[in-house]
Amino acid sequence: MFRVGVGYDAHRLVKGRKLILGGMEVPFEKGLEGHSDADVLCHAIMDAILGAAGLGDIGQMFPDDDPAFKGVSSLGLLYTLVEYCRRKRKVRIVNVDATVVAQRPKLAPYILQMRAILSKAMGIPPERVSVKATTTEGMGFTGTGEGMAAYAVVMIEEEEPEEVGGDGRRPVTSGY
Ligand SMILES: [Zn+2]
Repeated sequence: MFRVGVGYDAHRLVKGRKLILGGMEVPFEKGLEGHSDADVLCHAIMDAILGAAGLGDIGQMFPDDDPAFKGVSSLGLLYTLVEYCRRKRKVRIVNVDATVVAQRPKLAPYILQMRAILSKAMGIPPERVSVKATTTEGMGFTGTGEGMAAYAVVMIEEEEPEEVGGDGRRPVTSGY
């Protein structure tokens, strides 16, 4: 069965932090503030996966008051989540489509590398991981540079439970 999930995240931009987006460091004078590395793109994707799988949200799975997750790599958490879904829930990622909202810096030069890094963490080809970047033309908190936001949509496929009839064949599903 196919299922779809949506994720959204936002973080404040501050001085004295590295800017980590899509699992890579992007050169910029500010970075995103947060308990982890504040990778807003990874967080939106993780929330979309959790939503599709019906597993709650990122705060429930990786609590931000847990010292174990202080400064942790969000890419590592994404990998952990995808592995958990695959092994324990028989769920695999079909594709991801994400948008990062930021006035600055220009993200176009880094998009291909982000897609490669994210697809490797999720164990799917880069063609199935779309990352886009947009500005809000100076409007709102992303436009003023106060922060960045990210949206993600993820499709997952859940393995059907093995239902085998008495004669060893899969039951015929009734049409309607
Ligand atoms: Zn976040």
